[in-house]
Amino acid sequence: MNVTLLHRLRTELDQRSVTTGLRRDLVVSSPQGPTLGVDGETLVNFAANDYLGLAEHPDVLDAAQRALREMGLGVSAGRVLCGTRAVHGELEAAIAELVGADDAVLYGSCFDANLGLFDALLGPQDVVLSDALNHASLIDGIRLSRAERHVFAHADLDELERRLAESAHARHRLIVTDGVFSMDGDIAALPQLSELAQRYDAVLVVDDSHATGVLGATGAGTAEHFGLAGRVDVLTGTLGKALGGGAGGFVAGPRAIVETLRQVSRPYIFTNAMAPTLAVAALTAIRIARARPDLRERLAAKTTWLRGALRDLGYDVPPGEHPIIPVMLREGSAARDVAAALRRDGVLVFALSHPVVPVGEERIRVQVSAAHTADQLEHAAAAFGRARSVLVGR
Ligand SMILES: *Cc1c(COP(=O)(O)O)cnc(C)c1O
Repeated sequence: MNVTLLHRLRTELDQRSVTTGLRRDLVVSSPQGPTLGVDGETLVNFAANDYLGLAEHPDVLDAAQRALREMGLGVSAGRVLCGTRAVHGELEAAIAELVGADDAVLYGSCFDANLGLFDALLGPQDVVLSDALNHASLIDGIRLSRAERHVFAHADLDELERRLAESAHARHRLIVTDGVFSMDGDIAALPQLSELAQRYDAVLVVDDSHATGVLGATGAGTAEHFGLAGRVDVLTGTLGKALGGGAGGFVAGPRAIVETLRQVSRPYIFTNAMAPTLAVAALTAIRIARARPDLRERLAAKTTWLRGALRDLGYDVPPGEHPIIPVMLREGSAARDVAAALRRDGVLVFALSHPVVPVGEERIRVQVSAAHTADQLEHAAAAFGRARSVLVGR
């Protein structure tokens, strides 16, 4: 083994451990749910993306167990070889119906979907306009394509419009945004984005990973939230968050786009097909998500309650509606210290600090689920109240 490489990596890891600290994964000892077992303790879980509580829904788990018995574990082949089962098509149809698109195509994850989308559709004659806070997978997927790439400041519609006007030379222009941004839970201004897309004849691509199943009366996502169902041209999303939390991603949109992805998209073609068990679980989760608007109503009511409770305690909680609640601590180690105090008090949340968020915007991210009980929400609020003592004197 080349010692120069190992030496360089060791030096960089040492530096990192001094500056940002090394990530250490938490090891969880229980199934996903509103509580988690960690290090022999039971913590109330406000750190997962299981917004509707479907990861622990008995129908989802039963369907997956049945599928495992009837169809086996995996398929040991790609979709384009002998890896496709009927459930893959059923799931794609259910996703398309959920989000109001013509068709949809499955990927192993939304990360893969975003890696496979742009390269398949675009060439060097095209321009992509991308929000500065877009998810890492969108950034990488756009880079993989050979299109010209412009990043506009987060949610800055004026800059976006300037860049649209400047890129009239392009064969195609794509506006790319998260539907809901994962750090702040803020919702993209789809009415304005859609209007700009129409005016400049651009294609609007939305990654709705944090919104599918969660926002809109039927769970169709951010577009439905604004009463704009059908106005997003291409939608990408995940099955690993609200829709059962298993794994999988998708692109949904017009037939010509979805069919093109099936023909040429590399992370669709050159990889193993989704395990049928996961597909059955996601299909079941989607059926429940569609049939149960009360889960979304419950989630919204719980989110509103906890946002209000945290604000009443004096925390800086920017306005918003999504179950991602950012609690801004802003300076130095405050977010980490409050998260540690909460953990000692039986509440699991994560502090987000530099480089994940800019210096001065350190925060704790709280994620509410429809599965949280009133007691669990009150426990969290009380723990946040007690944790204020670590901020005294700062
Ligand atoms: C979580 C997330 C992804 C990644 O989804 P996976 O299916 O877990 O790969 C992609 N985009 C956004 C906006 C996300 O929030």
